[in-house]
Amino acid sequence: MIRFDSDLNIFYPSLIADKTFSCGFTTKLCGDMRRTENISAFFSSANLFPKTMVLPEQIHSVNIAVFDPFKEQTYPIEILEDTDAVLTSLAHVALIVRTADCVPVIFIDKEKNILGISHQGWRGTLKKLVCLVIEKMKELGSKPENIQASIGPSINDCCYSIDEDRRYQFLSEFNGYSNRVLLSRRGQTFLNLPLLNYLLLIESGIRREAIDYFPFCTCCDEERFFSYRRDHKKNYGNMLHFIVRN
Ligand SMILES: [Zn+2]
Repeated sequence: MIRFDSDLNIFYPSLIADKTFSCGFTTKLCGDMRRTENISAFFSSANLFPKTMVLPEQIHSVNIAVFDPFKEQTYPIEILEDTDAVLTSLAHVALIVRTADCVPVIFIDKEKNILGISHQGWRGTLKKLVCLVIEKMKELGSKPENIQASIGPSINDCCYSIDEDRRYQFLSEFNGYSNRVLLSRRGQTFLNLPLLNYLLLIESGIRREAIDYFPFCTCCDEERFFSYRRDHKKNYGNMLHFIVRN
C-alpha cells in the first residue's frame, strides 16, 4: 500500500520500505528537486546519508545502467549520461529519478539485494522500459517472483490527453491493453500511463501482490504535486523518487 509520511511529506510503498531499504516519492512540500541543495536537504531531513546519489540523465531512452563505483571514480552526486534507469546491489547508494507527470518505478529484489529505479514518460512506456529493467535484473540473478515494484505519482487518464498520432502508436503496440489504457471522452483520447506500466510489470512475471500502485494524479492534485502538463506555461518543478539500501 502507498502510505503518506507526514513528518517527511513523502509517499512511500509500505510493501518495500523497511529498516534495510528506504524509499519514497517526495511531494511539492519538499521543494523543487531540480535543485541539488533541495535534494541534499531532503536526505538530511530523512536522516539518510548515502555515500553517493546516482541520477540517470533522463533523456526518454530505454538505456539502463548498472552502477558499480569500483569501475568508475565516484563523486557524491553521479549523473549517468544517456540513461533512464539504474540498478545497483551496493548499500549506501541512493538511486534517484525526478519527474513531474512521468511515471517513476522503484524495483527491488530483497533476496539478491538488487535495487533499481526508472523514469518513463510516453516514449519509455511505448518501448517497455520496465520490461527491460526486469530483464536486466534477471541477467544479474533475480527471479521475477522475488522482485517487488512500486509505481509512483504520475499523470493519469483523467488529465493525460494525447493526439491522434500517439493514440495510433499505442494502439499498434498495445492492442491487447487498449480498452484498459486508452479512453475516449468528449472526442479526445486519454492515456493511462501508470496502468500500462503496471500491466507491463505483470507481463514481465511480477506478481500482482508484489506491486504497490499509486492511485492519484499529479495533474489533478495541485497542492501536493508538480505537473508539467498543468504548469509548463508557468513555473513548474520536479518531485524526487529514491531507493537506498542502508
Ligand atoms: Zn488528473
